[in-house]
Amino acid sequence: MDYQARAQRAHALFDLYDVDRDRHITRSDLRAYSDRMIAGLRTDEDLTHDHSHALRTAFSHLWIQLAAVSDTDHDGSIGQQEFIAATDRGAFDADPRFRRAVLEALDAIADALDVEGDGYIARADYARLFDASGLDPHEHGLSFDELDTERAGFLHHEQLRALALHLFPLADPSWLDPASAPVVERHGIALVAHDTRKPDLIAWAADRSADLAPYRIFATGTTGSLLADKLGLEVTALHSGPLGGDQQIGSRITEGEIHAVIFFWDPLTAHPHGDDVRALVRLSTLANIPIALNAASADLLVTGRTLATG
Ligand code: PGA
Repeated sequence: MDYQARAQRAHALFDLYDVDRDRHITRSDLRAYSDRMIAGLRTDEDLTHDHSHALRTAFSHLWIQLAAVSDTDHDGSIGQQEFIAATDRGAFDADPRFRRAVLEALDAIADALDVEGDGYIARADYARLFDASGLDPHEHGLSFDELDTERAGFLHHEQLRALALHLFPLADPSWLDPASAPVVERHGIALVAHDTRKPDLIAWAADRSADLAPYRIFATGTTGSLLADKLGLEVTALHSGPLGGDQQIGSRITEGEIHAVIFFWDPLTAHPHGDDVRALVRLSTLANIPIALNAASADLLVTGRTLATG
């Protein structure tokens, strides 16, 4: 594909995700896009809750990875310039987590299109994808016959993955083989919030989800469920804080699995597990890992910014 054709594809893809047409792609655009897919992929019955949930989750993962690759000014939205620049430098193509998110979204779409649940997608069901997604089958070269390379009259889920090659301008066939892009081991980061600070942590993590993408996220029980349910973050949830979750984080710091802590603690309330919290701060200090106790320091931690540059 020549440069001009690639650039055209990149612009078309940007327009597709910029649902509100404000020249920026944001988390809410991807959310609106997944809602539109969910509405459009319905047949006579509503999509099952599982299918809708899988689609929403896949598109929130896609948002996180899109932003991690292309939101270079960390403002929580992807401008057209940022998107095209990332495409030009091959940043999407090079990022294994981005590839994985694309395949996850395509798998969720395949599950939703597979009306019988037997692993096959019929021609008529495939057609619904275009109404639902806003893609133009001719412009994007996505016809059923192109994907049905065996002329079987139906598509397997894996064949739907080949859509990635048509959608992403720099994708090559290695995308479809997850083993060709091993996901590198990530540093661990722990997120914890006391009850009164949970809304603040969720709001902060929503703004910073792209900056958190390079980390494996650990969290105490309730904090972890909120991060997963509200933001679609992939979280290893431990026990709830008062039931030993803070201690579990401490032990993982000692084991070298967690390399940074963000703890939105409540300085105005006494907690039954105050000793555990103190122990967590002590272990973080001992291990010399960064620990942020409020949003301002958490920003510095995950963006690598300094106070001088704000
Ligand atoms: P929680 O624990 O996320 O399970 O609420 C946090 C804490 O209180 O330490």
